[in-house]
Amino acid sequence: MNDAKVEATGLNRREFLTLAGVAGVGLAVPTLFPLADAMAATGLDQAPLPYDKAALEPVISARTLEFHYGKHHAAYVANVKKLLPGSGLEGKSLEEIVKASAAKGGGLFNNAAQSWNHAFYWKCMKPGGGGAPTGKLAAAISASFGGFDAFRKAFVGAAAGQFGSGWGWLVEEGGKLKVMATANADTPLAHGATPLLVVDVWEHAYYLDYQNRRADYLNAFMDKLVNWDFVAANLK
Ligand code: MN
Repeated sequence: MNDAKVEATGLNRREFLTLAGVAGVGLAVPTLFPLADAMAATGLDQAPLPYDKAALEPVISARTLEFHYGKHHAAYVANVKKLLPGSGLEGKSLEEIVKASAAKGGGLFNNAAQSWNHAFYWKCMKPGGGGAPTGKLAAAISASFGGFDAFRKAFVGAAAGQFGSGWGWLVEEGGKLKVMATANADTPLAHGATPLLVVDVWEHAYYLDYQNRRADYLNAFMDKLVNWDFVAANLK
């Protein structure tokens, strides 16, 4: 299998080879439909972490990521696959499922939104990240908040102040950047805003490493983890 073909499927090489192996074994399958179904379902699969589980230490431990990515996020993904049949949203992308199920709420929305929020959160971090952005994103932050320090104070304040479980966000809405916090699974996708940056403030995101010190986790996230290249790429 060449890379162009792998790329065209939207799967990574390992996923494609797994599917190709399934297809090869399934010679008794009379048509291509089972493979097509398998590939459609793969669009909802949990993507690999963009770094090793130990890569964010000491800010976020490998043990936290083992549970957070390997158990919590994985469970949301598995629940979406269980709840999707009969929903009328089969074959849709995860983002489409989140938006289409938002008004109704319930299990499918909660699990789809959590699947999307976590996939986005992993990409918002990188080893050796943090600090302040540059270029167009820095200018947009200055235009909307009056400067990076004011943005940071607002972002950390919103995330620290979210009562109970939820998420802190930087979003673009109506040409302006805004900070918001959402409770539980809620996501800016459900409110017409474009997510640029997120931090998870469910206790499972930080309790093993910081216990009750959510502000310490948030400051370390800002100083050492934010992947500003990813955040900038989300600003259209
Ligand atoms: Mn989480």
